[in-house]
Amino acid sequence: MPYSIQEISGVISDDAIIADAATTIEFLLIDSRRLVFPESTLFFALSSPRRNGETFIEELYKSGVKSFIVSRNFDASNFTTANFLFVDDPLRALQKLAAFHRKQFQIPVVGITGSNGKTIVKEWLYQLLQDDYNIVRSPKSYNSQIGVPLSVWQLNETHTLAIFEAGISEVGEMDALEEIIQPTIGILTNVGAAHSAGFASKEQKVKEKLKLFHRAYTIVSNNQDTVINSVISQRKKEDLFIWGSGDADLKIVDIEKTAKQSVIAAIYSGRTVSISIPFTDNASVENAITCWSLLLYLHVDEEVIKKRMLRLQSVEMRLQLKRGINNCSIINDSYSNDLSSLRMALEFLHQQAGNQATTVILSDLGDTSSSDEQYQKVLQALLQHKVQKFIGIGSRLLALQSFFQDAIPQSFFYNSVESFIHQFLNIRFRDEVILLKGARSFEFEQINLLFEQKVHQTVLEVNLSAMAHNLKEYQRYVQPTTKVMAMVKAFSYGSGSAEVASVLQFHKVDYLAVAYADEGVELRKAGIHMPIMVMNPEVITFQSLVEYNLEPEMYSFAISKAFNDYLQKEGLQQFPVHIKIDTGMHRLGFEVEDIDDLIRFLTANPRLVVKSVFSHLVASENTAHDAFTQHQAEVFLQVCEQIKNAIGYSFIRHISNSAAIFRYPQYQFELVRLGIGLYGVDSSAEKVLSLQPVATLRSTIAQIRAVKKGETVGYSRRGLVTRDSLIATIRIGYADGFNRRFGNGVGHVFIKGTLAPVIGSVCMDMTMIDITDVQGVTEGDVVEIFGTNLPIEKLAQLCDTIPYEIMTSVSQRVKREYYQE
Ligand SMILES: *Cc1c(COP(=O)(O)O)cnc(C)c1O
Repeated sequence: MPYSIQEISGVISDDAIIADAATTIEFLLIDSRRLVFPESTLFFALSSPRRNGETFIEELYKSGVKSFIVSRNFDASNFTTANFLFVDDPLRALQKLAAFHRKQFQIPVVGITGSNGKTIVKEWLYQLLQDDYNIVRSPKSYNSQIGVPLSVWQLNETHTLAIFEAGISEVGEMDALEEIIQPTIGILTNVGAAHSAGFASKEQKVKEKLKLFHRAYTIVSNNQDTVINSVISQRKKEDLFIWGSGDADLKIVDIEKTAKQSVIAAIYSGRTVSISIPFTDNASVENAITCWSLLLYLHVDEEVIKKRMLRLQSVEMRLQLKRGINNCSIINDSYSNDLSSLRMALEFLHQQAGNQATTVILSDLGDTSSSDEQYQKVLQALLQHKVQKFIGIGSRLLALQSFFQDAIPQSFFYNSVESFIHQFLNIRFRDEVILLKGARSFEFEQINLLFEQKVHQTVLEVNLSAMAHNLKEYQRYVQPTTKVMAMVKAFSYGSGSAEVASVLQFHKVDYLAVAYADEGVELRKAGIHMPIMVMNPEVITFQSLVEYNLEPEMYSFAISKAFNDYLQKEGLQQFPVHIKIDTGMHRLGFEVEDIDDLIRFLTANPRLVVKSVFSHLVASENTAHDAFTQHQAEVFLQVCEQIKNAIGYSFIRHISNSAAIFRYPQYQFELVRLGIGLYGVDSSAEKVLSLQPVATLRSTIAQIRAVKKGETVGYSRRGLVTRDSLIATIRIGYADGFNRRFGNGVGHVFIKGTLAPVIGSVCMDMTMIDITDVQGVTEGDVVEIFGTNLPIEKLAQLCDTIPYEIMTSVSQRVKREYYQE
């Protein structure tokens, strides 16, 4: 539902420059990287302590964006053909516009809040009600002060039901969200412990959350929590739909769990009713009952409810990239297919693909009443993200065949998944990144199986969202003018080069650094175009350095002369280099005594352009060596000053690694080098950063056997069994990077919520663990080697090494899987 720029101006601004009154706005943008349709986009220049959105206006203007929301003092005189609306606070303006948009619709709007389960309840309601309504819902977990307005903006005249979630972290935030969502029906899932920051008490938290529903004519909640109960019972009884015990509207009388299902019985309107769900954990049972309550309130037929509950599916909130057959990578997102989730998946595809060819396999949209115009938008999105090959599955797409083929010549169409599978072997899939995006009824899972590569089941899972989070966490401590270089040497500390680098490139890290030239070449081939420093250049790699525009570190006269000679021989006038100074590490670098010679050399050979001068701190994480760290920094600064005076131009100075970024803000200079922190390990002594683990190494159980007391397990009879035991063999050994020092009780793995010790020696490809004390383990079960439950730091301690070694030891035969939340 597009609005004219003038209409929008009338809603949010009293001061505007309208250069083109014919502009209509369809898309709201807050993140310049996500621009897709410039002409019809309205950019909100939001500001945060680190970023001022106004700095992206020039770039967006050049890309064709014509409409901007800016603060009152913004100088728009350079952008003569664009529309500018001036406001006090761009975030408030975004919220105001969304609230105005919301007012245009008279449909039921469900607002969900609570500490846990919001997203699951929202997605399940979507699963349960999509046959009865055309539903608009918050994408992913868009529930913040920014996420909510963007969610509500998606509402259009085809929708018959809206489901939005709202999350808050402090008092006062809910009023703004209520204005925007204006729920007619409220759902409160639950409210967690009182001591969370931002609230004085649990009661205050409940009251704040309930503000979301002050206009709602019904609230769905439960009476299991005394605090919620006492606050909520201040509302009129006829405005509530309560599940739980006592006089609840839906009184739960029995919950019976079998191996794979829970049967929930209740009394409703004086009758006994029941549902079964394919989940057995308590959170799922609670969430299902919450959904059940709303369905009853909406008068969905009880038999229909029963049928749909049985088909509930777990909610996959993340996008995952896996290696598949023929050197393809697969992103499988076959759980829903609507425009907004398609756009997100395409963005992930585009970001991950780099230079590789991209293919999209798409089903008809999940909403069967979608108009041709909706499909036109699908095509636009495909084109915007430069999809090269398209496969459409379903009768709607088949009917629109020629329309798609005109725009994407490599398009193929099938009436059904079956007919596609029938043709599968005749279609060539090789060296491409493939997005599988299908509405649930199409069951694309069958297609995914065709692409899956059969490998042994030890996997290193890399959480790209956690990495982005860690980057942000460090950026809070980096001065706004300081650039960030991400260290992606050694296969990004084991996490995978191109995949990790793509995320860093997307998040606008300024520089990358690798150890060797071939690592840099690999990144360039994968489409990484940001500057890359190579720390260990060798003479035989000079040609690739120059060819791939990789910037070498100069650490000695020998290498500098050789590189200068090479440039001269090739007739190259200039090439950027990075000068390494040894201030105490005694690894690589020019010594302080060499500086005069170095200066003479640099001034005589202007071919070598000094892009940066840097050094490395030997113990920045360790308070015991603070004096030495300061000494290193002082020497470094002095050397920089000397070089700068001699060569007559300035350069980037950098000395800080992860630990120093936080511990020595005064040494950040123009750039910091972020390494291990990016991967979720806090190397500083203070441990104040809230980092998330990025890598999780998992394996599976190949076999379980009973072993009698007195027998031994493994080579050389080292694993003596001292009681009748259950021993499991897992599919990981020292060749995968599971250190042999973990043998004989030193190491543990995490299984079924607890730790099981290694018994006997670690073998090359397998390891035995003692699971006698672990309940309910079966063959095929997953064990965690390290990750969220068993931190890398802990493992490093056990075998007396450092997290760096554990991370970089995971061998290349272990499959990497990437996902984004
Ligand atoms: C590896 C490396 C870093 C990163 O160190 P972390 O402790 O992982 O942050 C920084 N600088 C240089 C020269 C390095 O080799």
